[in-house]
Amino acid sequence: MEKRQENLHCAFHLKGIPVSRGIAISKAFPLSGESVKIDPANISEAEIEAEIERFKQAVEKAKGELRSLQTKVARRIGQESAKIFDVHQLLLEDVLIIDETVDYIRRKHKSADFAFHDIMQKYQNTFDETSIEFFQGRASDIKDVKRRVIKHIQGDRTDYLNKLKGSAVVVAVDLTPSDAVKLDRHKLMGFATDLGGRTSHVAIMARSMGIPAVVGLRRISKVIKADDRIIIDGNEGVVLIEPDEETLSYYRDLQEKYYDTERRLSEIRDLPCITTDGKEIELSANLEFSDEAPSAKSHGACGIGLFRTDYLYLAKESLPTENEQVKDYSKIARVLAPDAVIIRTMDLGGDKHPKSLAIPPEENPFLGWRAIRISLERKDIFRTQLRAILRASRHGNIKMMFPMISGMDELLECKHEVEKVKVALRSEKIPFDENIELGVMIEVPSAAMLADRIAVHVDFLSIGTIDLVQYVLAVDRGNERIAYLYQHLHPAVLRTIERIVKAGHQAGVWVGMCGEMASDPLATLILLGLDLDELSVSPMSVPQIKKIIRATDYLDAVRITKKALTFDKARDVERFMTKVMRQRYKDIVF
Ligand code: PEP
Ligand code: MG
Repeated sequence: MEKRQENLHCAFHLKGIPVSRGIAISKAFPLSGESVKIDPANISEAEIEAEIERFKQAVEKAKGELRSLQTKVARRIGQESAKIFDVHQLLLEDVLIIDETVDYIRRKHKSADFAFHDIMQKYQNTFDETSIEFFQGRASDIKDVKRRVIKHIQGDRTDYLNKLKGSAVVVAVDLTPSDAVKLDRHKLMGFATDLGGRTSHVAIMARSMGIPAVVGLRRISKVIKADDRIIIDGNEGVVLIEPDEETLSYYRDLQEKYYDTERRLSEIRDLPCITTDGKEIELSANLEFSDEAPSAKSHGACGIGLFRTDYLYLAKESLPTENEQVKDYSKIARVLAPDAVIIRTMDLGGDKHPKSLAIPPEENPFLGWRAIRISLERKDIFRTQLRAILRASRHGNIKMMFPMISGMDELLECKHEVEKVKVALRSEKIPFDENIELGVMIEVPSAAMLADRIAVHVDFLSIGTIDLVQYVLAVDRGNERIAYLYQHLHPAVLRTIERIVKAGHQAGVWVGMCGEMASDPLATLILLGLDLDELSVSPMSVPQIKKIIRATDYLDAVRITKKALTFDKARDVERFMTKVMRQRYKDIVF
């Protein structure tokens, strides 16, 4: 195999961070290179001023977007790469271009997008025609600026993300959750992005959909062209563009072998998740979209440990109505019944910005107006969601969970809101599960320290390691530059988890984990040894984690965990666990 790999050839070979397993061979759909549709129809005299205003606002929005993209790229890739955006900013500040467009709209009675497109096209053509590389580069700058402004002029009238035709791998600088949610998931074969880390939302989405993804590729968006043939190896973090025939056939073989192994793993899906000495662990799945509930079940999950309701808010221009939510939650509850479905109330903010909610830009969005903080300020939105969850609760085994609780006040306020909504439903004679269980995500260090107190007020705790690791270690969860510091096997994280589980058990409640760490096979024995009652993992990880647990002796896991807790460094824990897994679980993990 080594020998064959040396013979692989392609136009570009890039290495990034593998975030969702599997191999995709498809054509590329670059999100920045799409063409835009312009309506050539004339506008009336009365529409002219509004059209000019629309144009000016679009320019301002494009400038703002560029500024935040520039900061992001500078922070994550470096100042040098971010300089490209200086040119784009300058173009947008060019008075000549702005005046020319305004004049065009006035004189020719054309829409703002038509006018700007025509003017920019003229400049672009001049540069396009030259054979000098420097000027060709300027042509692509103009094209990018043209597209960006037109996108803002057209706003939501034409959503370019909807233009995904046929199956393809989506390639982008970065993909926000609100972008990703607009893509037709049935046509998505994989993701490849310049930015992002293991826990960025594009990674979570890819895992939830079971499609391969590689992020942190730094420059893939620059080298890709629409319809290029592309291979995504989500196991190794490799992306190949325009491979030759030999490379293609090598990856086709690899793809077949990989999916064969997956098929074999899924054969255990109906078997219980129990250790060889009889300790049972609840193994459930994380879910982002209600229509994927059957897939969680078919992978062998015994419930949903985390339904991220956030995507309901991101998928639409307007807030999801109570009835829409009831429909979605009930659908999942019915598919999974009698197994439990834990619905987490909205976790917006951070990098999740729905159109329907104005979340102002913040210096530190992950430490800012996010999750439960938004819910408790926008009680109108929160109450609608609580009503919907309660109303759906009669269709199955629904539990409710609150994200990012950082102190007791927030939790008590949430419970108070639930009670108020219950009273209202009773008075309206609307049925719901009176005994619905309530839980809290433990993902903020202060909540971890207070877990013993928090546990007294709830029915369960669920550890959200994606945020917990980011906050305990002070490492941005989506920043590939410092991804090496993002270590969930860090001794400080392990001690924090140990503390939370003990606190929960002492208060008599069960403790689960719905964060990404639960899906990592290197962590499974430690989580068993730390006595977690439930693990909620991405659907595609269910068979593998179940197989490991079924091959493990619980007391042995406790011994291994004790040893793992003696190390001072994450790297040593990782080395130790890799050795253990290689020796005992070679067929399952490596
Ligand atoms: C987490 O933080 O671990 C988690 C599951 O929540 P999210 O990724 O949705 O923030
Ligand atoms: Mg979280």
